[in-house]
Amino acid sequence: MEFLTHDILIIGGGLAGLRAAIEAQKAGRDVAILSKVHPLRSHSVAAQGGINSAFDNIPVPTNDSWENHSFDTIKGSDYLADQDAVEVMCREGIERVIEMEHWGTLFSRTEDGRIAQRPFGGSGFPRTCYAADRTSHNLLHVLYEQVVGLRIPVYEEWHALSLVVDEGQCIGVLAFPLFEERTVPIRAEATILATGGYGRIYLRSTNAIINTGKGCYLAYQVGVPLEDMEFVQFHPTSLFGTNILITEGARGEGGYLVNVKGERYMERHAPHLMELGPRDIVARATQREIDEGRGFEGQYVHLDLRHLGRGKIMDHLPGIRQIAMDFAGIDPILNPIPIQPAQHYSMGGIPTNVDGETPLPGLYAAGECACVSVHGANRLGGNSLLETLVFGARAGRKAASNVKRKKRESNPLAFQKQSEAFQSCLHELSSRQEGEPCFRLRDELKTLMTDQVGIFRRESDLLSAKEKIRELKERFGRIGLKQKNLDFNNEWIQYLELEGMLHVAEVITEGALTRKESRGSHFRTDYPDRDDEHWLRHTLAYKTTEGARLEYKEVTITNYPPKERTY
Ligand SMILES: Cc1cc2nc3c(=O)[nH]c(=O)nc-3n(C[C@H](O)[C@H](O)[C@H](O)COP(=O)(O)OP(=O)(O)OC[C@H]3O[C@@H](n4cnc5c(N)ncnc54)[C@H](O)[C@@H]3O)c2cc1C
Repeated sequence: MEFLTHDILIIGGGLAGLRAAIEAQKAGRDVAILSKVHPLRSHSVAAQGGINSAFDNIPVPTNDSWENHSFDTIKGSDYLADQDAVEVMCREGIERVIEMEHWGTLFSRTEDGRIAQRPFGGSGFPRTCYAADRTSHNLLHVLYEQVVGLRIPVYEEWHALSLVVDEGQCIGVLAFPLFEERTVPIRAEATILATGGYGRIYLRSTNAIINTGKGCYLAYQVGVPLEDMEFVQFHPTSLFGTNILITEGARGEGGYLVNVKGERYMERHAPHLMELGPRDIVARATQREIDEGRGFEGQYVHLDLRHLGRGKIMDHLPGIRQIAMDFAGIDPILNPIPIQPAQHYSMGGIPTNVDGETPLPGLYAAGECACVSVHGANRLGGNSLLETLVFGARAGRKAASNVKRKKRESNPLAFQKQSEAFQSCLHELSSRQEGEPCFRLRDELKTLMTDQVGIFRRESDLLSAKEKIRELKERFGRIGLKQKNLDFNNEWIQYLELEGMLHVAEVITEGALTRKESRGSHFRTDYPDRDDEHWLRHTLAYKTTEGARLEYKEVTITNYPPKERTY
């Protein structure tokens, strides 16, 4: 059996993966990146609004500090974040953002030339650094330049099919180059998952089509638990019709949310912060307006930017204007933008410590697929880009220091077994004469998740969602594929992704059903209050043949005791 071999293999070419690769390569290790799309097509490239860092760079300084940033993040998380991890992110984040600036990120500037910062939801200070409304387009290109400069190899359009584990250690992956007729075993002393979110298990999502949660499933499949998966972020402002994101930066610049009666309804829900309340609160308020008949055509509300004026919109929100014109035929300089909430981000994921280590030796995770946990029950806007850089770098550094100079001989049999399992799965699939098409199940799953495991949740919906997912898992076993050859077989890829999507959806639903309280993004209409006595704890979901088995673990509290959360 022929192998590819690296010290460290990073799965994912978004911000977290690239930042990890740079750190590990600089530590002198042989590093490679594997990504199912070109790194610059990762979802990171779509991030618009900005990245948080407590620089206090605004014209009138406010004495912002990383401690203030930590407090806002912890309060925003509804006290579920691990406070030691939040402190690491907010403290080290300052250095990471300056580093990005030195590497060449074209941040927007203040009059006197410093990095400009805009207000973002749930923050007491304007601390979101931005590059107009294309922040991570800039960040990702800058990191990719570094990767090219360091000559780090990238396996582009390669899929990670499964992790290979031997004697309790992750020893590499089985991969599939989309354009070939074979699977390829890759040996690695350390494997870092940086595979992003799972937004596309929802019908309405701001996420890229590739965000299917496969990375979480890769870990779950080999016995690593998934943490806090019931906490799914819904963004209040996605463009009605396509659900393309309209950045929180639009409200940061002063945009209003208005219902059909012309009311700025956030007055009722977050009277102090108004439109800049945290996302969970603004998303619920918006959905409520729509559900209670104060939306337009029963489906959306307005985001009004007209009072900002042409100059500000053209300077600070050019991408948003273009999106509104191209996808809704509306120029925000002249008309309000129709918006509705949509799935946006995954707070949960693969549990790691602050160095990216997962419970499985040899396996690391960073970025959106990981749960450190710095976002707890609700993430503040601008903190996710920061997380990718801080914990991407830390995971790369830790993996590099853990890789031993003298290599362990990894067992070829473990790879062989996986490879044979895939061949027989493929053979079985190809020999099926007929069967349901993959997309039908996928679409049923997405609709189910948006309708029954969405912004507002209740027991009867969650129970029926659980039943339905079981049924979909059964039908999954009877899917038929039309395309028989392996190269460019997107149907097969979709089939494999769907398997992961079903399991991830099951974990979310089980966690949501069991958590009988409301906290952050998880809102139970039948248990509308936060219950610290019973539920100030993280959920861990383990894969079993019967579905997800749940366990719980303590939340780390340092300096910020839980309080009532008002804005
Ligand atoms: C529209 C939008 C706007 C956003 N705006 C902001 C913002 O302004 N500020 C902020 O802080 N956050 C924002 N976020 C969130 C933030 O962008 C993401 O959380 C972050 O970029 C995720 O980075 P990542 O490196 O973890 O993953 P991603 O950038 O999603 O990259 C995942 C990588 O994994 C690869 N991959 C996945 N599965 C496999 C597999 N099986 N085999 C091989 N490769 C695989 C993909 O090819 C890809 O390269 C936004 C998100 C969206 C959707």
